[in-house]
Amino acid sequence: MNLMQEDIIHNLGIIEKRIQDACNKSNRDRKEVKLLLATKTVSADRIKIAVEHGYHLIAENKVQEVKEKHQILSELPIEQHFIGHLQTNKVKDIMKYGISCIQSLDRISLAEKLQQYLERNDCTIDVFLQVNTSDENSKFGIAPSEARNFAKEIAQFDRLNIKGLMTIGLFSADESLVRPCFKRLRTAQLQIQELGLPNVEMKELSMGMSQDLEIAINEGATIIRVGTAIFGQRIYPDSYYWNENSNS
Ligand SMILES: *Cc1c(COP(=O)(O)O)cnc(C)c1O
Repeated sequence: MNLMQEDIIHNLGIIEKRIQDACNKSNRDRKEVKLLLATKTVSADRIKIAVEHGYHLIAENKVQEVKEKHQILSELPIEQHFIGHLQTNKVKDIMKYGISCIQSLDRISLAEKLQQYLERNDCTIDVFLQVNTSDENSKFGIAPSEARNFAKEIAQFDRLNIKGLMTIGLFSADESLVRPCFKRLRTAQLQIQELGLPNVEMKELSMGMSQDLEIAINEGATIIRVGTAIFGQRIYPDSYYWNENSNS
């Protein structure tokens, strides 16, 4: 076993303990929280190490990376989500690679393109609505105040199964700024649940990353998305993936 592999497995152990501790503190069952591997910039071989260690939920931010890693990953027992900004002209491209859920649905035009593709191919896909809970212009997602109306509109696309909400939250070490973001997502979830939209489950809350997963679990996360704390620092800043200037 080389060092790289040992590091990843070691880090998974640390994360697992952090999740367990956070669940204990919040009186939650560990089974309620799924660990999603956020694998942008991570090679397929390194992802494979984590998958073989028992983690099967992975997600990319860019269509190009999904494509590049597809061959190796397709041989593994994984469930793959997409968590990046998806351009409408890339919909056809990405659907070829067995993505089961788009967590970053943030606009009607994207829903329309997905619906068209899914009708033509007679299938459906799971989606999360992405909410911008930190009110930063640089981040994608609908405003929390728009979430209800957005959910109503998306519910009319019968090929899209709305499973929940996703947010990135504020990237800060200050808990008093981070926690309100997660609370906003939880509030939006409750508001949408109250609408009782047919065929809308709204059970999932995808929030929390390497730095703030404990807060997210405490605020009700059902999926935390972790990259750096497992695979190490990335060379690109996250703004490269998250803001308007990024090219998917
Ligand atoms: C990169 C990324 C993550 C993981 O962030 P880390 O800080 O590396 O854990 C989670 N969600 C999204 C949308 C990301 O792009």
